[in-house]
Amino acid sequence: MTTLKTGIFWFTNDLRLHDNPALMRANSLVDRLLCIYVIDFGWRASSQYAYANEAKNPALFLRQSLNDLSQSLEGLGQRLIVFDGQTLATLNELIREFDVTDVFRSDNAGWYENRTWAVLKNSNAGIHFHSVDSHTLFDLESLPFSVDALPSSFTKFKNAIGDLKPLKPIEVLHYLPEPPLNNYSELERVDHKNLNLLFKGGETYGLAQLGDYFSTEKPMSYKRVRNSIDGWDNSCKLSPWLANGCLSVREVISTLYDYEKNISANESTYWIYFELLWREYFQWYAHKNGARLFSLSGIKQLNSLGSYYPERFQKWLNGSTPYPLVNACMIELKETGYLSNRGRQIVASCFVNELAMDWRYGAAYFEQALIDYDVASNWGNWQYLAGVGADTRDKRRFNLEKQRQQFDPDGRYIRLWSADDELRPLDSVDAADWPIS
Ligand SMILES: Cc1cc2nc3c(=O)[nH]c(=O)nc-3n(C[C@H](O)[C@H](O)[C@H](O)COP(=O)(O)OP(=O)(O)OC[C@H]3O[C@@H](n4cnc5c(N)ncnc54)[C@H](O)[C@@H]3O)c2cc1C
Repeated sequence: MTTLKTGIFWFTNDLRLHDNPALMRANSLVDRLLCIYVIDFGWRASSQYAYANEAKNPALFLRQSLNDLSQSLEGLGQRLIVFDGQTLATLNELIREFDVTDVFRSDNAGWYENRTWAVLKNSNAGIHFHSVDSHTLFDLESLPFSVDALPSSFTKFKNAIGDLKPLKPIEVLHYLPEPPLNNYSELERVDHKNLNLLFKGGETYGLAQLGDYFSTEKPMSYKRVRNSIDGWDNSCKLSPWLANGCLSVREVISTLYDYEKNISANESTYWIYFELLWREYFQWYAHKNGARLFSLSGIKQLNSLGSYYPERFQKWLNGSTPYPLVNACMIELKETGYLSNRGRQIVASCFVNELAMDWRYGAAYFEQALIDYDVASNWGNWQYLAGVGADTRDKRRFNLEKQRQQFDPDGRYIRLWSADDELRPLDSVDAADWPIS
């Protein structure tokens, strides 16, 4: 008598059916498959920086993405079970309850995520664990260096990559093994129409945005406009889907190559690849540096003078600093969960330089507020701006007045987001705690 093999597919930041090699592997190895997602913010790096989490946008984007995935899985006779709780406890319980033989997931750059995976493996001897890469353009085998030998700067990384071609997306899945049981309660559905969001979560909407963007002439002028402070058309607007894995980065690059082959290729279309290569660099950077991604002294192990000032922190995240452009950016971030790359650089530079704050509080706030939060891109970019990361120069200080003149010369962006234009001083008390009049 043959015994049935039962697998768990643990969805994390790979919320899609297209180009999902881990799901393909599960498909070929087990007879029954339990598809799960665990909502557990306990392991997030920012959980130790305890401040109220008011960010509703990322939670909605995630819910929408899970709903979309659930519907796609139903089309293949499967279903998604979403748990709210502690990841390890949930997975251990399911492994026992369903006599699981194999557990699958996609590779992840996050240190906490990988530690959870390692603990799970160690506490379940005899079970097969499969972690399959799909979050990056290249895999370990195709990289021309080991992760430990990752070049110390982006430019060296780009040169080492040279003409290496990214991996191609795999074929679409048409079949999945059936679930072992059906007695879990239905996932609560979110009504897309009632949500006031620019970005709608889910593979369906991610693929639609990819298709829309590359069916226009926008890629041809990307390089010229990508630095703008706002504007839907000024960049690809793919990051929320990429970060949650609703979109495969290999699918994105393959669409870009098709565009270059069939429509047109110029410096701008190359620059989209260039920016995706930044993303790639930070993914391997996170793999290499592990917990050092979150350390104050960064990968450069430099003494950082940043401190923590509760009042400055509150003013920064509420958009009530003495800097109107920073305020507008922070309000946009709070309202929408998104901010242009230019905006992110400006507010991060202000945080580190004008506010003299420990950069990790800023990164932790972004982690909670961004709908495109990605552990590697977020903490890697923050380290870079704080001068403790992959930058060959010291920390980057943006002249806020010059930035305003260059990127919002007529004040349109500031007016759009800042209802209250009364500017307060940075501190209401002096160093000895006396009120500043
Ligand atoms: C302080 C700071 C924090 C950031 N945190 C995140 C984050 O958590 N998640 C995230 O996806 N991006 C982050 N970025 C990078 C960048 O701001 C966003 O990827 C970009 O603004 C997303 O918009 P887009 O998709 O229209 O980008 P486009 O300009 O169209 O770029 C295309 C894609 O390239 C990648 N990319 C572009 N710039 C960068 C970059 N500097 N670093 C890494 N990848 C890049 C993204 O995947 C993006 O979707 C951060 C940047 C800064 C300065």
